Amino acid sequence: MRAALNALTDELKRLKASGVKSVVVTEESMAALHKVAKAQGQRVPASGPDNKAPSLSVKSQESPVRHEPPSSPKPTAKPIAPAVESNFPPPPKVVLPAGDKQTRWNALLQLVLNDPVCKAHVRPGKKVVLGVGNLDARIFFCGEAPGAEEEEQGEPFVGPAGQLLTRMILGMGLKRSDIYIGNIMNWRPEMPVAPGGTQYGNRPPTAGEMAYCLPYLKAQIEVVNPEIIVALGSTAVQGLFGAGSFKTLGEIRSQWKLFAEKPVMVTYHPSYILRNPTNRSKRAIWEDLLKVMERASLPITDKQQNFFLEK
Ligand code: URA
Repeated sequence: MRAALNALTDELKRLKASGVKSVVVTEESMAALHKVAKAQGQRVPASGPDNKAPSLSVKSQESPVRHEPPSSPKPTAKPIAPAVESNFPPPPKVVLPAGDKQTRWNALLQLVLNDPVCKAHVRPGKKVVLGVGNLDARIFFCGEAPGAEEEEQGEPFVGPAGQLLTRMILGMGLKRSDIYIGNIMNWRPEMPVAPGGTQYGNRPPTAGEMAYCLPYLKAQIEVVNPEIIVALGSTAVQGLFGAGSFKTLGEIRSQWKLFAEKPVMVTYHPSYILRNPTNRSKRAIWEDLLKVMERASLPITDKQQNFFLEK
């Protein structure tokens, strides 16, 4: 157990050195850490002791990475990832074979699964994750990074946030099989691991990690060639447009941007709704999705138009 705490402290110091200001752990993990620390007369670094490590903050189980605050209520800044770390390998050059979409996507999958950097960073027994979905999708949802369930199953958005995303897609009159879902990252960003193998919480990817995975995301966009991309959450936006491209997600949410010549709608991550399940926050995301539906010329019923409007 002491080894786990030492590993945690070392990892926090490493993250701090790479510019990470705070990390997120689940309440469950935090409670476990406190228990271990108490038994050993040590203290869990709840707020960055002597400024040597980033602070720990507690998030609900669903939060795969840090997420942004409500829209209309005042959004607060999320830590922006540092400029590309000098110690992270340069991004891979992705060259896909000629052929139909399926052939090209299969080749991409093999590239990602065999990528030595992805393999080196994924935890033992867990999976590297590529996007999934309809290769002819008109709408491409872009998330942040795999979480616990995703690294287990090797598929994006299969945990609680994914189930909510599926409901959002159904609300749009679509099925999950109509769209494509990818992530900025192809592996779950590493956090300290307890001797039993449990990873404590999640953290946002660093700029170097996002830059490394970006060619794989671009290649998926190139293969699918969607009409519209929906960027879910601030890490997705940072991954697409760069770490310093905005101060708060609230600043650019609900706006159209351009990436790889595709219109991108910026909205909240579904896990934000899991943490703030109010009609107000649901309506905020829903209004962004209505804009997507309009742009895609999807039919919008009165009922859909009025989803989550407070009476
Ligand atoms: N959140 C994400 O951003 N991506 C996933 O794959 C799962 C949760």
